Amino acid sequence: MSTPYDHKAIEAKWQDRWEASRTAEVDLRQADGKYYMLMMFPYPSGDRLHVGHGRNYILGDALYRYLRMTGKRALNPMGWDAFGLPAENAAIQRGIHPRDWTLANIEVMKEQFKRWGILYDWSKEIASCLPEYYRWNQWLFLRLLEKGIAYKKMAPVNWCPSCRTVLANEQVVDGACERCGTPVIQRDLEQWFFRITDYADRLLAGLDTLEGWPEKVKIMQRNWIGRSEGAEIRFAIPALNESVTVFTTRPDTLHGATFLVLAPEHPLAARLLEKHRDSAAIAAWIEAVRNTPRIQRSSEENPKEGRDTGAVAINPATGEEIPVWLANYVLPEYGSGAIMAVPAHDARDFAFARQEGLPIRLVYHLEGDESDLTALTEPILHQGTIRNAPPFDGAADGPETIARFIAWIETNGWGNGKVVYRLRDWLISRQRYWGTPIPVVYCDTDGMVPLPDDQLPVELPYDVEFTGREGNPLSRSASFVDAVCPQCGGPARRETDTMDTFVDSSWYYLRYLSPRDGTQMFDSATADRWMPVDQYIGGIEHAILHLLYARFLCKVLHDFGMVGIEEPFQNLFNQGMITRFSEKSGRIEKMSKSRGNTVSPDELIDGMGADTERVYTLFIGPPEKEAEWSDEAVSGAYRFLTRVWKLPERLAEAPPTAASDAGLERDRHATIQRVTQSCERFSFNTAVASLMELSNSLSRALEEKSASRPCCEAAFDTLIQLLHPLAPHITEELWERRGHTRSLLESAWPEHDEAKLHRDRIHLVVQVDGKLRDRVEVDAAASEEEVRAIVLASPKVQEHLAGRELAKAVLVPGRLINLVTRKPA
Ligand SMILES: [Zn+2]
Ligand SMILES: [Zn+2]
Repeated sequence: MSTPYDHKAIEAKWQDRWEASRTAEVDLRQADGKYYMLMMFPYPSGDRLHVGHGRNYILGDALYRYLRMTGKRALNPMGWDAFGLPAENAAIQRGIHPRDWTLANIEVMKEQFKRWGILYDWSKEIASCLPEYYRWNQWLFLRLLEKGIAYKKMAPVNWCPSCRTVLANEQVVDGACERCGTPVIQRDLEQWFFRITDYADRLLAGLDTLEGWPEKVKIMQRNWIGRSEGAEIRFAIPALNESVTVFTTRPDTLHGATFLVLAPEHPLAARLLEKHRDSAAIAAWIEAVRNTPRIQRSSEENPKEGRDTGAVAINPATGEEIPVWLANYVLPEYGSGAIMAVPAHDARDFAFARQEGLPIRLVYHLEGDESDLTALTEPILHQGTIRNAPPFDGAADGPETIARFIAWIETNGWGNGKVVYRLRDWLISRQRYWGTPIPVVYCDTDGMVPLPDDQLPVELPYDVEFTGREGNPLSRSASFVDAVCPQCGGPARRETDTMDTFVDSSWYYLRYLSPRDGTQMFDSATADRWMPVDQYIGGIEHAILHLLYARFLCKVLHDFGMVGIEEPFQNLFNQGMITRFSEKSGRIEKMSKSRGNTVSPDELIDGMGADTERVYTLFIGPPEKEAEWSDEAVSGAYRFLTRVWKLPERLAEAPPTAASDAGLERDRHATIQRVTQSCERFSFNTAVASLMELSNSLSRALEEKSASRPCCEAAFDTLIQLLHPLAPHITEELWERRGHTRSLLESAWPEHDEAKLHRDRIHLVVQVDGKLRDRVEVDAAASEEEVRAIVLASPKVQEHLAGRELAKAVLVPGRLINLVTRKPA
């Protein structure tokens, strides 16, 4: 009698049992065999997770269960990146307080994780929106302030007039707010920054030590930091009796600098325009450029616009007068907000020179090219050799030539070698309610005063109105704003900016290690035992900012003597997205709510079970690659699990002994080897394929009764052990029904026996009626029937058997087989 595969009952039973036994809880006082795995903590957005999100968590859980079975002391915590704009928008739109909304969403997501059978150590749970967490953001901020790493300055910022907040550059897409699509304007505001630029070189050097990171992510980080070596060169402007300093990575093209371009915001621009007859019109143009988002201005596609100041500068290498222009493609932040334009050898300068009819002068010449400059349609990018640039004629492009130029420029007193970075300091101020309050007050007598540690946490007031009107709701809360100056005891005004949520996520992995510690940010001894994170798993969208900020703050904490390591994440894995056909766009696209192409796990789990979703999700393709969801293919995973479910009832029918168990044993050991390798490499898709093969081999052996019952049982036990990380519920149930009393997680991961894999080949002499007729090569473990079948298939043997029939075959194992014939009856 077969029991039907009742996935609903089985999954509920085991989920409750894992929860009740707190099976994933880790005692952090011990760390031998430690493996700290970390999923990027999610934002509780209020949207139910779909199967595309599931890929990430299921993958992590499969790895976790595998690690547990291999005897690792695996830590798999979970928490919530719980501050951020959507909560505040929900409050405005639906009248729910951000805190209530967020905490309710967290409960929903926890329930979803449970239904997927995912094991987290909930005793380490953290939520960044709770004072017990964010007080340590504030504590850290005060330490950064003491060290001058946190500071305040006026800065042009991207401002969304609709969301009424400052946006980071990456939140500006094509000049508009990423969230609401409103065109972004530039505003000057007093803002808090973290001095990440001081760490630029260490952040670069650290990347070289991260062998377990995808090369792609390291390249993205290097580009973001954007270190360039070059020179600062001063160009005199006689009319102002001043000089303008430019930065260039190509000082070797100095002779080709035929004009200077300043950012319209450059401090000298106004003075240069004082006597200009169009000064009012140009001032209006400057204002318009100033209001264009930086990211748009730095785009290659953005039309280049410029204005001639009418002034000239002196090229120090040639002594020639060259015009000074203002143009939108030069940004005030890069270098000193001024460039020497070398149109012959730079694409942007070339385009601008052609557009405005400015002179072009070659430094590097190609062989045989006497350079009709009027015919030049694109710049020559440093190919060939230098001509007409004494004393460098004949020099070829390369680092030595650049170094010679820098030395020459320094000798002449025109400038000096310099390294610049694209990386800017981290702007952490947000003019929003739902974030960590910055723990300082402003006093008329003492100015900005940091709060003493014993006044932390500065808690967000609950009683705040969310109207969506101009400004930060915090600044309208009198109970919050009115404070006492810790220095003079007089009235003070509390800072109403809150911190960027990237501050929360840049150290949460340390808080998991001391989640309930009310006395300190984290315990250093525990951190030194458990850090670094052995495996970090999350989306490629966090390749730059989150990972860079986390690496930065880890180095800061290291410098504070709080943690020994400097790099928090030893290995990084970015899972690929799940795509699906979208009716809206008519295309296969990333699964998302807005595209209307999501699949809810709820229906799927009700119909076929969480184990089916897990196996399908892991089978869908290499986990680092994008994969397309197929509703039809899911049922293949269900059929596989149903077949596994039915195997035990057939085990009883296997014969007590069999001629040879070698075949099934070999399959069993080969599967152990392959699945182990797959788990080590995260290629769970190949693990599923191997397990399907073992299930087929076992099924065939049972059908043909070709393997003994002990051998079949061993194969089945191995199958469910290896399948456990992928399909945990069904395997626990089958394991228990096999008479085991402890969870599969406590069972030791099977190890393969190399000898069992071996297909020993031996040579056998083949006799027909005692006479040598052939030699064959067979598997050493082959049964007599198998050997006889091989020998009878030999053409030579067939020749000698012609007209006779086989009476019997005598096998001398390892040596010979004699076929005894007789006349056909
Ligand atoms: Zn907006
Ligand atoms: Zn004061």
